[in-house]
Formats: sequence, C-alpha cells, structure tokens
Amino acid sequence: MAKIGFIGLGNMGLPMALNLAKAGHDVTGHDIFPAAVAAATAAGLRVDAVGAVDDVDIIITMLPNGKLVLEAYQTILAKAKPGTLLIDSSTIDVASARIAHEQAEAAGMLSADAPVSGGVGGAAAGTLTFMVGGSEDVFAKAQPILAAMGKKIVHCGGAGAGQAAKICNNMILGISMIAVGEAFVLAEKLGLSHQALYDVASTSSGQCWSLTSYCPVPGPVPASPANNAYKPGFAAALMLKDLLLSQEAAASAGATTALGQHATEIFQQFVESGQGGTDFSGIINDIRGKSA
Ligand code: NAD
Repeated sequence: MAKIGFIGLGNMGLPMALNLAKAGHDVTGHDIFPAAVAAATAAGLRVDAVGAVDDVDIIITMLPNGKLVLEAYQTILAKAKPGTLLIDSSTIDVASARIAHEQAEAAGMLSADAPVSGGVGGAAAGTLTFMVGGSEDVFAKAQPILAAMGKKIVHCGGAGAGQAAKICNNMILGISMIAVGEAFVLAEKLGLSHQALYDVASTSSGQCWSLTSYCPVPGPVPASPANNAYKPGFAAALMLKDLLLSQEAAASAGATTALGQHATEIFQQFVESGQGGTDFSGIINDIRGKSA
C-alpha cells in the first residue's frame, strides 16, 4: 500500500481521496479552503498541509485550473522526495499540463496527467474513467493507484495526452448535446412526440450518449437530469470550461473546429444568462426559448 498526498479536497477530490483510503492506502489530504478541510476531517480523512507533500510516495492534485496546478507544483517540487509520482487529475489546458510534466521531470519526479470523466457520482462510486498522459513506466506505476478510484484507465500517450483526450471528448459532448436539444425542439414544432423521436433516433443513426444516457427532455431516460429540474449532473459552467479549453488548444494547434467554436459561444451565452449552475442538458430550454 502506498503513502499518498491528495491536494484539492473539493467535490471530486474528497470522494476520490476517501476511495484511496478505503482501498487501504495511507492518505493525507490538503486543501486551502477551511470548509473543505472540515468536510474531509469529518469524513475521517487525515488532513495536513506538510504531511501531504513531504514523505509520501505519490501526490495527486485535483484543482480548478492550470494556473493553480502550476502554483501548487512550485511547493510540491521544492518539498517532495525525488522519485515521487505526481498525478494531476484536474482538467487543465494542454500547455500547462506539458509544463507541469517538464518541471516535474527536471526536479527528478515521475509525472502523469490523468483527468477524469464520470463526475461527482463516479468519484463517489469509484467508477471514474481516467485518461492518462505520461511514459509507459509511469503509467504502469499509476494504474493500480487509479484503479482504486476508477473502473476504466486508458493510457492515451505521452505528456498532456490525457488532457488532450479529455477536451476532445468533451467537445464532442457539448456539440452533441446541442444537436440533440435542437432535434427535440424541431420535433416539438413538427408535432412529433418526445418518445417517438427517442424511439427512432436511439436505435438509428442519430444515436449518441447525449440522447440515450442523458436525454435532455423528461421521460425517455428516467435517470437523466431533465427529470430532476435540470439539477446537475454536469453543470453548464463546467461544460463551458472544457469547451473553452478545447478552443484554446485548437487555436494553438491550428485545428479548425467550427462546431466546437459555435458550441462554446452557445454555452457562454447560457452561462452568462445566469444558468451556469444548471445541468448542461438544460441548453434545450435556451434553444426552445430562442425558437418561440
Ligand atoms: P472544486 O472547486 O469543488 O474543488 C477544488 C478544490 O481545490 C477546492 O476545495 C479548493 O479549495 C481547492 N484548492 C484550490 N487551490 C488549492 C491549492 N493551491 N492547494 C490546495 N487546495 C486548493 O472542484 P471539483 O468539482 O472538485 O473539480 C476539480 C477538478 O476536476 C477541476 O479541474 C474540474 O474541471 C475537474 N472535473 C470536475 C468534474 C465535476 O463534475 N465536478 C468532473 C470531471 C472533472
């Protein structure tokens, strides 16, 4: 069993750290937000800023953005033992992820980017998907640790490849949710029932995850947020964060992503209208409102 420091005990980080402890690892957490520290302590996790970095074998970060990850790495790289395995599971920009790898390797550490999909529910259930960037050797060391928090762990390639996979996947998700929402609104205008469109499209070429697992109208998929007043789930503000990261990456890599750009604009307007805390499938209500 490993000695693990876990930095960032928020909505995702705390349940992930608790699953590591449940698997028998010796886990020490750290967070700068007093309420997060209080929640972690109440859940039985040891919290100690120094202990989470010094004298551990592995440090996992789960932080809001690339700037905060690189800032946290300044302390980690100065204080951690050489050879410590650093796993960043935050969703951040590919450029910052590559800088984090370079700095970690220069300081004699092992480094992996390992963002997740599966949300807060997957973090609690230990069923996250991890998308991992880093060398074969680092992946082999990280895999059994990540297995305590997730059910699918994919080695995507070298430094930053995990973040690249995450934002490409979520760009598909943002675009496809808008496409499904538009199709249901058009069906309403044409007098076609939600269930009829669902029954046809879910078994035809329009089939996709946004339709069959996360249907944006109530009824056809009882567990989707549409049946629960669009309570997240996956908040529109987080969808926008990932779409903005995809557009930043597309601009720097020279990729044309016209639909990704348009989806970003649509979610930006939705969030700016005060709907950032609504599930992202609530975008259908925005489409319906504009169609009236
Ligand atoms: P969160 O805001 O709930 O948690 C982040 C935590 O990091 C906070 O408790 C904050 O106090 C702490 N923090 C910030 N700076 C710190 C520092 N320097 N040292 C220690 N702690 C620090 O966010 P979250 O929902 O847990 O998301 C974390 C990451 O996971 C993000 O990058 C997010 O995009 C990604 N993600 C979230 C979801 C989701 O559904 N919430 C799904 C997939 C990926």
